[in-house]
Amino acid sequence: MTDAPATDELTPPVRTLMGPGPSDVHPRVLRAMGTPLVGHLDPAFLDVMDEVQELLRYAFRTDNQWTLPISGTGSAAMEAAFANLVEPGDTVLVPTNGYFGHRMASMAKRAGGTVVSVDAPWGEPLDPRDVEDAFETHQPEVFGFVHAETSTGVRQPAVPELTGIAKAHDAFVIADTVTSLGGVELRVDEWDIDVAYSGAQKCLSCPPGASPITLSDRAMDRVLARETPVRSWYLDLSLLEGYWGDNRSYHHTAPVTNVYALREALRLVAEEGIERRWERHRRVARTLVSGLAELGLERYAAEEYWLPSLNTVRVPNGVDDTALIEQLLSEYGIEIAAGLGDLAGEVFRIGCMGHSARPANVHHLLAALEETLETHRS
Ligand SMILES: *Cc1c(COP(=O)(O)O)cnc(C)c1O
Repeated sequence: MTDAPATDELTPPVRTLMGPGPSDVHPRVLRAMGTPLVGHLDPAFLDVMDEVQELLRYAFRTDNQWTLPISGTGSAAMEAAFANLVEPGDTVLVPTNGYFGHRMASMAKRAGGTVVSVDAPWGEPLDPRDVEDAFETHQPEVFGFVHAETSTGVRQPAVPELTGIAKAHDAFVIADTVTSLGGVELRVDEWDIDVAYSGAQKCLSCPPGASPITLSDRAMDRVLARETPVRSWYLDLSLLEGYWGDNRSYHHTAPVTNVYALREALRLVAEEGIERRWERHRRVARTLVSGLAELGLERYAAEEYWLPSLNTVRVPNGVDDTALIEQLLSEYGIEIAAGLGDLAGEVFRIGCMGHSARPANVHHLLAALEETLETHRS
């Protein structure tokens, strides 16, 4: 029999989280997680649910009634979007310009969709002309795109142009806003996005576990009018409606503590003001990007589609990215990440999200990078 590990070995160190998520959790959110549990149908909890839904509408910039947190991480909200919107036989258009577009393809396929793609190289956004061409060729029912591609540090500009094309072809738009919600300008209603999903541990600076999603009435009508039931029972929005809609009846036990955390994180967003929060991300990330340039690190994504919440820079010649990342973690307690997929070994990914988007974090990271780069370059 193995011995029980000593208790202190179970305590992870305090880190500065500047990777692609999770980001640093605000102390108020950590305290909210110590709130005593109540039942998931307790009247007091129903009030918490109402408040979370209202605050989510504020953060998403939407009046959508169907706005709720999905139990699970961002991928669960992503799967809820595709599993509910896609019926077997539907054609689904997805992007190829990053890691998460490929995940969309896998999920759409599992939902029974026929997947077609609109191509752009990794590191570039989609060109509306290519989206238009793909619509002409394939006539998809559903079009997914990634607003903030965490694998490349690219922000998709011209979102209203993309949704306009989809609307002209009577299609539904699903937007991955995991790395933009609460950090980068996002206007669900004004930009005419049918379904947007997100995660808790990126720009909302909340522990992972309850992930926002919002659907327009038009999208929810489509879900309620499906000919075949959603293949996932757990993520079936027509059933989740029973709990998060007016009835408030049992479907599954809500992750009560995660919902407390999400409420506190969203209260912080509302207190700061969503537009000021976008502005803070831009300002702090600008300091980061300038500092990285001074260290001789070349930016990967172009300025026009810069994503303040996730900054990519090229790994300099002769530098071992894995070794440098390990040293930052072990000697300075700072987490940044390596490239993913096509960009493995090519870039560093540096997050600047939510409570991590603070000048103190940026200066700490830049000073640590200056010292570590020196040892790794020689
Ligand atoms: C992190 C992320 C996801 C997946 O979220 P998980 O919480 O890891 O399941 C999806 N899309 C994008 C763009 C992400 O950055």
